[in-house]
Amino acid sequence: MTTGAVATVRGDRSSADLGRTLMHEHVFAVSAALANDRPEIAFPDGKQAAVDDAVARLQRVKDAGIDTIVDVTVFGHDRDIPSLVRINERVDLNIVVATGFYTEDVPSKTFEIRQALARQRGGNFFVDVFVADIVDGIGTTGVRAGIIKCVTGAAGLTRGSKGLLRAAAIAARETGVPITTHSDPHARGGLEQLELFAAEGVDLARVVIGHSGDTTDLDYLKAVMDTGATIASDRFGYALPGTATTQERVAVIADLCNEGYADRIVVSHDAMLHTDWLDDGYTAAFPDWDPTFVPTTVVPALREAGVSDAHLHQILVGTPARLLACATPLPKERIDEQS
Ligand SMILES: [Zn+2]
Repeated sequence: MTTGAVATVRGDRSSADLGRTLMHEHVFAVSAALANDRPEIAFPDGKQAAVDDAVARLQRVKDAGIDTIVDVTVFGHDRDIPSLVRINERVDLNIVVATGFYTEDVPSKTFEIRQALARQRGGNFFVDVFVADIVDGIGTTGVRAGIIKCVTGAAGLTRGSKGLLRAAAIAARETGVPITTHSDPHARGGLEQLELFAAEGVDLARVVIGHSGDTTDLDYLKAVMDTGATIASDRFGYALPGTATTQERVAVIADLCNEGYADRIVVSHDAMLHTDWLDDGYTAAFPDWDPTFVPTTVVPALREAGVSDAHLHQILVGTPARLLACATPLPKERIDEQS
């Protein structure tokens, strides 16, 4: 990919044209096995209804002033790029897709075994798959991933997640795309992730530490941003018990902007427009958990809390564009010999 360009479902875009961007959403997150074998669980109302619903909801996102979303669904909760292509044909929105593996520890047995075989032969299966998704495209769609997602949970770096984070780092260096993570800020997980990425030679200015907005611990958040990394307050509307409320999330961003960190913050919802993880009974408890909540409610609240228009533009437009613009790949030699 050309340096500075951004791969989207509809082809490459200039990062300067992305507009207002939500950095962590999911359109379809559906197990490929369930979709194939138990479609009545994966798509209770049928797949066409899920596609139509996604089109309608994304149209409302566009109408609310959002131009680009980053869909960070990856292996492990499973992408459906052909459906995303069909959806995107009907709504004028840029969608950036991801590669990576979603797990807090070991990946699927298939990935684990293929990686063990590859390591015996001096290769790295994870890196090969991630790089192929970024360079060659996903399946037969030709859609290329524009970001790499990786995960640690409350237990932090585990035997399994270490190999995946290291592979994400190598693939990021070799392709120039950024990294975005799922982290547990209450376990200060972002710092541990960044330490591993730094050891693998990743430019930390190209890393987004996800779910950072779940905490109000300003010292932790500043420590993450002081490495050059960006924090994502990416669960607006999805205030799980024990995590920050909407008002607290807004206040944290306002405080950090006042302290000079406006250039290392992005926002999103972690919304899932259709997923077999959850059912309507669950999502009914989170009425604000919709990807229109940031543009319609959070942005006015941030303004009310004193965040300037320049800082809002930075958070919604400037920083996403900087992060998503493909960087020059770094030299190819791999330094992951111990994994
Ligand atoms: Zn997510």
